[in-house]
Amino acid sequence: MKFKAPRGTYDILPSESWKWQHLTDVFRRTAALFGFEEIVTPVLEQSDLFERSSGESSDIVQKEMYRFQDRKGRTLALRPEGTAPVVRSFCEHHLDAAARLTRLYYIGPMFRYDRPQAGRYRQFYQYGVELIGSHNPYYDAEIIAFECAFLQNLGFNDYELHINSVGCPCCVPDYEAALSAYFQPLKDELCEDCQTRLIKNPRRILDCKIAHCRDLSRSAPVILDHLDEDCRQHFSEVKSYLDNIGIAYTIDPRIVRGLDYYTHTAFEFIYPALGAQNTIAGGGRYNGLIEQVGGRSIPAVGIAGGFERLLLALERQSADLGSRPALDITLITIGETAQKMAPQLIHYLRQTGCSTIWDPEKPSLKAAFKAADAQKSRYAYIIGDDEIAQLKITRKDMIAGTQDQIDWPDSSL
Ligand SMILES: [Zn+2]
Ligand SMILES: [Zn+2]
Repeated sequence: MKFKAPRGTYDILPSESWKWQHLTDVFRRTAALFGFEEIVTPVLEQSDLFERSSGESSDIVQKEMYRFQDRKGRTLALRPEGTAPVVRSFCEHHLDAAARLTRLYYIGPMFRYDRPQAGRYRQFYQYGVELIGSHNPYYDAEIIAFECAFLQNLGFNDYELHINSVGCPCCVPDYEAALSAYFQPLKDELCEDCQTRLIKNPRRILDCKIAHCRDLSRSAPVILDHLDEDCRQHFSEVKSYLDNIGIAYTIDPRIVRGLDYYTHTAFEFIYPALGAQNTIAGGGRYNGLIEQVGGRSIPAVGIAGGFERLLLALERQSADLGSRPALDITLITIGETAQKMAPQLIHYLRQTGCSTIWDPEKPSLKAAFKAADAQKSRYAYIIGDDEIAQLKITRKDMIAGTQDQIDWPDSSL
């Protein structure tokens, strides 16, 4: 029997993992610049957390969530997204008691039972930042500024920022009435899902991926014409903060976000060259979520992005991702005495901070050099009887191909 990674999942091999380290390093560094601190939550949560937050009728809950019963009959879910678990933890541990504003970031795998395709997996890796505790439009702009800084620090500049306001519970009903009135006569032309959406949540029709539904919604009413005074004011302040710090954006009334808890500002970072799956990060204000999962009413704003698509976009742009880490030293021994002394020498070298490997199985000199090459060793250290007698090490520079002798590092060895 041959085992394979489950459909829709994949291995990050050493030939790729250093790129992931680069992305997460840059992410952590940028997050720290903005005062965000890491929060790590379990990949398992009670499934109601997502049913409550994403809404029973959402695609995530209806079709995509990995939900199962554990041995005691508890209904658990593999987290399909990162915000609800962060908010659950925020409430559970009363993080708002310590400060008026809580700034958190996370990185980790998320799970959705989705049809696998290029850049889309059933286990995928996301990053996100959440700013909990203020309704001030300055923070909407700050979250956007964070994502811009992160992408810039990765050397990624060809993205587009699309923003919209999705309204609030005061103005959405008026908008939904307008949408229903628009779609009602077209009802029979909508896909089956959208016919249900028309009754339960007509805004989601605008999010449908079916081409004909997209065509039908092209001339649908837009939320921006239905915003109340508070939402209009909030949106205009977000825009002026962005203008203020020189961040370019496009107003895109088609951004509706698939989840119930979004209010006010919504935004997406898009890399058009990726085709149909071209959103590399998305977020917005979610003033309704914390109350929905059982806390007080606390406003918040955040963004999340997928590492897979980001990496694809960076590679498409030939961005500098650094390089696979190289070893400092491959130790090569010739003869019994050297063989006996190698473990102590290698221990010493590692203690002084040099990454070093050694193969005790006495490969031929040729095979040993080949291995040093494959490991991209900076140097090969060669010790044999002559070197030991003279307390020297023959050092080969694996890049220049030159060779010299250095002193034995420590006479007590
Ligand atoms: Zn409103
Ligand atoms: Zn549809």
